[in-house]
Order: sequence, then C-alpha cells, then structure tokens
Amino acid sequence: MADTIFQKIIDGEAEADIVHEDDRCVAFRDRNPVAPTHILIVPRKPIPGLDDLADEDADLIGHLHVVARDIAREEGLRDGYRTVINTGDDGGQTVWHLHLHLIGGRRMEWPPG
Ligand code: 5GP
Repeated sequence: MADTIFQKIIDGEAEADIVHEDDRCVAFRDRNPVAPTHILIVPRKPIPGLDDLADEDADLIGHLHVVARDIAREEGLRDGYRTVINTGDDGGQTVWHLHLHLIGGRRMEWPPG
C-alpha cells in the first residue's frame, strides 16, 4: 500500500491535531470537519479499507469503537454521535487507509447523502 497522508500522520511526518494515541491506533481531528466534533480513528496497521480486513482484525475494529466511545465521552457528546466507515468509491472513501469517523455536536440526519 502506498503511503497515505494518514500513514504520514501516524509516522509523525505530517501534522495533525492528535487527541488519542495507543499501540493500535491514532485519533486526530478531521481537517475539514462536518460537525463541531469530527475525529478520525486510524489503526496503525495499514489496512486500505474495510473490504481488506482480515478475520484476525476483528479485535482491532472493536478497539477502534471502544476508543470512539471514550473520545465521545471526553468531547462531551452526551446526546449522541455517529460513527462511520466509508468503504470504496461508492461508500465515499477518499483516503485509502482504514479509518473510523466520529462525528458529533449536532443533530445528524438520515439517510446520509
Ligand atoms: P473518507 O472520505 O476517506 O471516509 O475520509 C477521509 C477524511 O480525511 C475526510 O473527512 C477528510 O476531510 C480527511 N482528511 C483528508 N486529508 C486530511 C489531512 O491531511 N489531515 C486531516 N486531519 N484530515 C484529512
């Protein structure tokens, strides 16, 4: 997988507003937020997208969501929030390094565009 901007952020070669780091993931604020809180939770493992996930990555996906829950609490998103993984062109994915969006701070609409 070619180095993406997210890999550069993980490696400390590109700047980002990092809100959480552990041995399995890094979380930072989205450059173009769509809501008052918009954070990307990115596994250190360079998996291009959800469709490339191996069965043994199931725990990792779970971990990303546990981190999302903790960050949502820290951000004070008491009334709810949305987590999203865009997959592939039709899913609206633009950066080919798996990431979980944590979006909150306003009322979400459904269905998404
Ligand atoms: P996707 O469309 O792949 O699901 O989401 C990619 C997200 O990455 C977008 O919300 C976009 O605003 C964000 N993004 C793209 N480049 C950068 C960057 O260099 N820094 C940060 N912080 N976010 C980025």
